[in-house]
Amino acid sequence: MSNTAFDTLLIHGGIDGDRHTGAVTVPIYQTSTFRQDGLGELREGWEYSRTGNPTRAALEALIAQLEGGKAGFAFASGLAAITAVLSLFKSGEKILLSSNVYGGTFRLLDKVFNHFQIDYSLENTEDLAALEKAFTPEVKGIIIESPANPLLTITDIRAVAELAHKHGVLVIVDNTFMTPYLQKPLALGADIVVHSATKYLGGHSDLVAGLAVAGTDELAEQLAFIQNSTGGVLGPQDAFLLLRGIKTLGVRLDRHVENAKYLAEWLEGSLEVKKVYYPGLTSHEGFEVHQLQAKNGGAMISFELTEGHDVGRFFKALKLIALAESLGGVESLVCHPATMTHAAIPKETREKIGITDNLIRLSVGIEDKGNLLYDLNSAIEASRI
Ligand SMILES: *Cc1c(COP(=O)(O)O)cnc(C)c1O
Repeated sequence: MSNTAFDTLLIHGGIDGDRHTGAVTVPIYQTSTFRQDGLGELREGWEYSRTGNPTRAALEALIAQLEGGKAGFAFASGLAAITAVLSLFKSGEKILLSSNVYGGTFRLLDKVFNHFQIDYSLENTEDLAALEKAFTPEVKGIIIESPANPLLTITDIRAVAELAHKHGVLVIVDNTFMTPYLQKPLALGADIVVHSATKYLGGHSDLVAGLAVAGTDELAEQLAFIQNSTGGVLGPQDAFLLLRGIKTLGVRLDRHVENAKYLAEWLEGSLEVKKVYYPGLTSHEGFEVHQLQAKNGGAMISFELTEGHDVGRFFKALKLIALAESLGGVESLVCHPATMTHAAIPKETREKIGITDNLIRLSVGIEDKGNLLYDLNSAIEASRI
């Protein structure tokens, strides 16, 4: 289906329905094992559900097609997917990380993979000249996110991939914030894409899942081996929910983005807001690069209230928008990076990089945008000191 439009692939891509019964949706194959017709005689290759399960396989084929990769792999969480990808590396090797990489990815390298003598360093991937110096011979991988949490900083994926490949370094992109509907890292030169499918791909805040997509047959073979050997696979029920979520990715994101643009523009015009971080605004630092590599600004906004506001009161006053971790669901959520996602960073460092106490991160849902604006405006008014 190489000429099929993305919106059609969302519905019919991967493995479309069930060829045995004609069921238009892929059934939940809730089974751990499969009857064999004789020694070594597997029916259609199914053997044991850690190694492969038809519901999970449909999801894996779909995400591979959507990202334009060779093979997809589904895991029990985004971090399980990233753990599998990190298992490609050996002791003595080093991985570069965007300085604003997801906290859990940082912790995984800092506190778990350090047991295996896999080193890492945090780099400002927005600054290519500085980044070039980081490619020492032991560097074998680089993990980037664009846009990255919480200031929606933009990394030029194509430029970083070119630089990394000059040094024989594997490029891994966490595409959670954009999804393949808005950005396709493999087409920009990445080797592997990872997702927390818990977010936009699932889209309904009702499951935790991770995906990885390999850009080459060799990486696909290695990741298949690691997935089966380490075993952090996604169960058939959650694979089904994720397949169901992905079908509406396009229509959901269109509304998410329409709402986000509306709110970002309003926030930018508000005298009570000091700064708005949204890659769809021309005022955003990475706007031009982002425009070249993604379809639009997505639906994550961060903004800083001016002094004279009490953020605690702001969060308390919200009625519709919930204070919660996570993002990418149909319901709007807010969080406070300084005390939630980035609490581990000392206050002084936080302030320096822009994560002030008055910074608020908003995951814009698909509710009525007028209702969302009313809720935000009322909470801002209620937070005046
Ligand atoms: C949430 C998130 C993860 C981790 O995914 P889980 O599904 O929570 O394990 C990784 N990367 C990004 C960018 C995320 O937002």
